[in-house]
Amino acid sequence: MSENAANIQAMYQELILDHYRRPRNKGELEGEHTTVAMKNPLCGDEVYLHLSLEGDRVNGISFTGRGCSISQAAASMITQAVKGKTSDEAEALGARYREMIMGDKEAATDKSLGQLRALSGVSKFPARVKCALLAWNALEEGLR
Ligand code: ZN
Repeated sequence: MSENAANIQAMYQELILDHYRRPRNKGELEGEHTTVAMKNPLCGDEVYLHLSLEGDRVNGISFTGRGCSISQAAASMITQAVKGKTSDEAEALGARYREMIMGDKEAATDKSLGQLRALSGVSKFPARVKCALLAWNALEEGLR
């Protein structure tokens, strides 16, 4: 690994830990909303995604739950990434995110994914793929 790539990996690792320790959008959502529960028994992860739409736009989004650093950091980053987006925009972002998690090299450098790219390394660990996709699967169901 080049020094630069190693630096990026270290930065990504920091970002994941930061979201795990200080999760964004964690907690119940005020007002009327939908909640989707997703569990990953292999790892013991639980994500409850709380979602409210205003028209076609993601107006309110938060999560509760517990689990490994990947599952919780992914929930934190995903809620941050889709807040204020239309459901079409959120779907498009999620599709790209899924490609990245499944190992697509091009997706892993796609700037539209923003901080979510920190999770690109998960693709090398098949057992963790489900952890990284848990919150997205919940969101996808909530948007339907
Ligand atoms: Zn996990």
